[in-house]
Amino acid sequence: MSRSAHPAGPRHADVLPEGHYSAPAADLNVLDEKVWSRTVTRDADGALTVGGIAVARLAEQFGTPAYFLDESDFRARCRAWADAFGPDADVFYAGKAFLSRAVVRWLQEEGLNLDVCSGGELTTALDAGMPAERIAFHGNNKTVAEIERAVEAGVGRIVLDSFQEIVRVAHTAQRHGVRQRVQIRVTVGVEAHTHEFIATAHEDQKFGIALADGQAAEAVRRALSLDGLELIGVHSHIGSQIFDMAGFEVSARRVVQLLAEIRDEHGVELPEIDLGGGLGIAYTSDDDPREPHEIAKALSDIVTRECEAAGLRTPRISVEPGRAIVGPTAFTLYEVGTIKPLEGLRTYVSVDGGMSDNIRTALYDAEYSVALVSRTSDAEPMLVRVVGKHCESGDIVVKDAFLPADLAPGDLIAVPATGAYCRSMASNYNHALRPPVVAVRDGEARVIVRRETEEDLLRLDVG
Ligand SMILES: *Cc1c(COP(=O)(O)O)cnc(C)c1O
Repeated sequence: MSRSAHPAGPRHADVLPEGHYSAPAADLNVLDEKVWSRTVTRDADGALTVGGIAVARLAEQFGTPAYFLDESDFRARCRAWADAFGPDADVFYAGKAFLSRAVVRWLQEEGLNLDVCSGGELTTALDAGMPAERIAFHGNNKTVAEIERAVEAGVGRIVLDSFQEIVRVAHTAQRHGVRQRVQIRVTVGVEAHTHEFIATAHEDQKFGIALADGQAAEAVRRALSLDGLELIGVHSHIGSQIFDMAGFEVSARRVVQLLAEIRDEHGVELPEIDLGGGLGIAYTSDDDPREPHEIAKALSDIVTRECEAAGLRTPRISVEPGRAIVGPTAFTLYEVGTIKPLEGLRTYVSVDGGMSDNIRTALYDAEYSVALVSRTSDAEPMLVRVVGKHCESGDIVVKDAFLPADLAPGDLIAVPATGAYCRSMASNYNHALRPPVVAVRDGEARVIVRRETEEDLLRLDVG
């Protein structure tokens, strides 16, 4: 995960060298429950089943490549987060990880709130009936039209990301005769990824308003002075795929310090803080993510402790997990096309998708696992690189993994933990048709986002 972007960091020593891969699992047929969604298992014939349906049937009915989303697992994870944080905190699912109208309905039914960061995501949320007050609107460059729609719809909060936006949202709210509830996104100088974090005073990035140099304090001053705004709190989001809570500790301390400064200067204790998302999941058997109740306890302990030290009432906490909810709930099913053994190197296994359905490996050097799922095999493990069908040598889905040496064209293989940032980042590169998302639950499978067709491509191309 983005190792090269972090040449130094407190936990740098833990970072594995480039080109690392683990030894093959003792039995390649075993599906590690850490990386597969909860209803995944192998049936008596050795084929993978999800929600009680075998992959061969799914492939026949829906084609490949396709994402299969384990609906009961998704719902269970929503409930686990909501239960872990309890009635005195709020869980906002980060819609950018994966959003569809079905997902919005599940979130409502399971009691979660929703983060959106574009007009398109807002439209999807509202169209599926998410109450506006349960929606938070993010983004570093919300257009005036997007702000207009968010205020008009009555979203529960807009997270202000710049000085210009403070004024824009205040004006829009005033024109609509409302006070818009807002938070200010601050950059606390902590950037966390997986096992390492960097804590500095300054942060070189486009999001938020810096705590450094009194910038965030000035933003608070302005927000408090504008009639159109009701400032309810401060927001911080420090990274992605984080396993170690130490980065949150530093960030919470800095945010609470700001709350104390606000109290001292303005005599108000802001009632909420949002600690963002970024909690990690298992992409491979080497990853050990924390359970929601451990995360909830750790965050609440940190905030309570820091607030006590600063003599503040503990604010209401909100969090914004995206990946940690949807990531583990889906896998991508591919059909093996060509197989090229490169003597002394590895075997290249080409599938019928690639960087158009999973850009994360090319973009972030992300790690994934893969399994043969249409059957079991007793063949020896072979080192493979799973690649796509795109005209780009960086078109890699799984960089290093082991599959049985008797793998053959026509076999089905699946990459687990592709629920987050795969379909939502999918592209039409090479005029690929973006795959469908099929929800599977209790023996039933239904398309929630259909496969793109060549007609869709031609419809956009107006000739
Ligand atoms: C991306 C993002 C999230 C979700 O991050 P995950 O890694 O999917 O948990 C939450 N909040 C904000 C502000 C984000 O930008």
